[in-house]
Amino acid sequence: MLQQTQVKTVIPYFKAFILKYPTLKSLSLSSETRVLKLWEGLGYYRRARNLLITSKILINEHNSKLPKSLINIKKLPGIGDYTGNALLAFIHDHPTIAIDGNVKRVFSRVLNKNENEIDFNKLIEINKKNLFKTKRNSDFVEALMEFGALICKPKEPKCYSCSIKNTCKYFKSDKKFKQTKILKVKTKKYNIFCYIDKMKNKIALTKKHNLGFLDKFYIPLIRESHSNKKIKNWIFHSNFKNFISNKKLNINLYYKFSLKIPSQYQWFSLKKNNEFIPSFTKKIFKQISKIN
Ligand code: SF4
Repeated sequence: MLQQTQVKTVIPYFKAFILKYPTLKSLSLSSETRVLKLWEGLGYYRRARNLLITSKILINEHNSKLPKSLINIKKLPGIGDYTGNALLAFIHDHPTIAIDGNVKRVFSRVLNKNENEIDFNKLIEINKKNLFKTKRNSDFVEALMEFGALICKPKEPKCYSCSIKNTCKYFKSDKKFKQTKILKVKTKKYNIFCYIDKMKNKIALTKKHNLGFLDKFYIPLIRESHSNKKIKNWIFHSNFKNFISNKKLNINLYYKFSLKIPSQYQWFSLKKNNEFIPSFTKKIFKQISKIN
């Protein structure tokens, strides 16, 4: 849940999730619809799906235990090097480091080198003995992440109260390296077209679309937009910006009152549905509901 999501956002979801699924077994017996319903509003829904699939794999193939090698952990859906190493450290106390943005920044500052000049895996391998000498690998990985987030922060690091300032080349050097600027997320433009049944307060949605990041979710008709031209037979409603996963979307919302909808579409209430509706689509519901 914490991947790409702030702790304060996650807390109520985590509590509700743990209450519903207190054990791996209880999660593994659930359905995707029920898990997604609990995840509703948290975004990045692939995490929920992967978690459910993983619980089933662990129960059925690994005797309810997490594998102990990176190769086997990475066979679980959605787990790459970063999560795999974090799990090995947190669950099995293995001497591994989850290399995230915070960790990279700390190492690059200590060495006073640009991140793209460092081979982090090699660096960790060479310094393994020193890095893991406390034998508290799980705490060390957690501490490194927190240190990057709270002390060696992206802007204005707290160097004067930093406990490793005496070995930090960034702190000691008069010639501090300059971090290469991170490329800005590109905004993509989309047009969204809502068929509305005004009498019944319904909207037409489909799961058949080619938006990979909302794969298998109900959304209205959506098309990538390349111009700001008026669109025949559709009424312009509003423009809004939205972040989904790591994508920035600039959306023009259109609608029309129509009882005829394309064959792959279904009617949904603008108020209450039993089906799981992603928060992206719910935002559109809110906008559309304002139409008189
Ligand atoms: S001295 Fe400053 S730059 Fe160096 S590790 Fe500490 S907080 Fe980061």
